[in-house]
Amino acid sequence: MDINLEIPSIPYETSTVKTIRTKKLVTLRPILVKEEKILLMGKDRLDDENDKQGLSEWLKSILQVLQACIVSPSDIKVQNLPSVDVNFLVKELRKISKGEVINLVLTCIPCRDEDKTADKIKPYIIRKKFNIDDLIVIENKDNNAKNIIKLEENYGIEISDYTMGMLLEYLKMLEDPDSSSNEISTLDLDILSQTIKAVVLPDKRVELNTKEDRQKFFDSLPSKYIQKIKEYHNGIERMVLTTEWNCPKCGEKRVLREVDALRFFGLTSTTAT
Ligand SMILES: [Zn+2]
Repeated sequence: MDINLEIPSIPYETSTVKTIRTKKLVTLRPILVKEEKILLMGKDRLDDENDKQGLSEWLKSILQVLQACIVSPSDIKVQNLPSVDVNFLVKELRKISKGEVINLVLTCIPCRDEDKTADKIKPYIIRKKFNIDDLIVIENKDNNAKNIIKLEENYGIEISDYTMGMLLEYLKMLEDPDSSSNEISTLDLDILSQTIKAVVLPDKRVELNTKEDRQKFFDSLPSKYIQKIKEYHNGIERMVLTTEWNCPKCGEKRVLREVDALRFFGLTSTTAT
């Protein structure tokens, strides 16, 4: 009896998309079962919202799967991409892996909070199908395309976007048992300092190459500039998932708004299936 030892693999389609912020052409392939398992394991770690280690494990598992699903360019590192682009790629990965249609369970929160009945039928919950892209809005479009903040006449700083790598670093610092709660309040400033790429003067640009350089430069800035740098980051392009509906029970207009596509698609979230 002949046994064919070669296991055939099923071909899959790929999709090429252009990222929002960095305008890179990225080709994605669908998530495979082995990667779905990684996501499920990551999700298991996310039971407790305050578990920073669980959160970073979950984020890492999403980034790991996203990285694996990028067919080209081969040199792209998702950890170094601005978070808007990671959110966008996660959305596209969801589309190519599970389809463009998403089922949402929308709940009118005030009606839910008032509900004291034990009825199985909840008239304030609706289930609706959406095309994923119909839920997407890009806010602050092309804002801060020029990544320089002018601090004074002839004096500016070049800023880089927040990346997932920075977020992971931040979570790592929060996990550190040696850091007291007092120090935690300065952590976001430490991360902010790491977004300063260079100092721009009329005749030259001085690159801040090391973590220490960036920290040292930031610490020497007049503190009024902290707000300016924060405003820059708040004003950056972002992808928002949003929709409106009318509650069938109270008739009020309700809005769903989610800025974190990673959480939304989860790729395993409880609200989106
Ligand atoms: Zn209602």
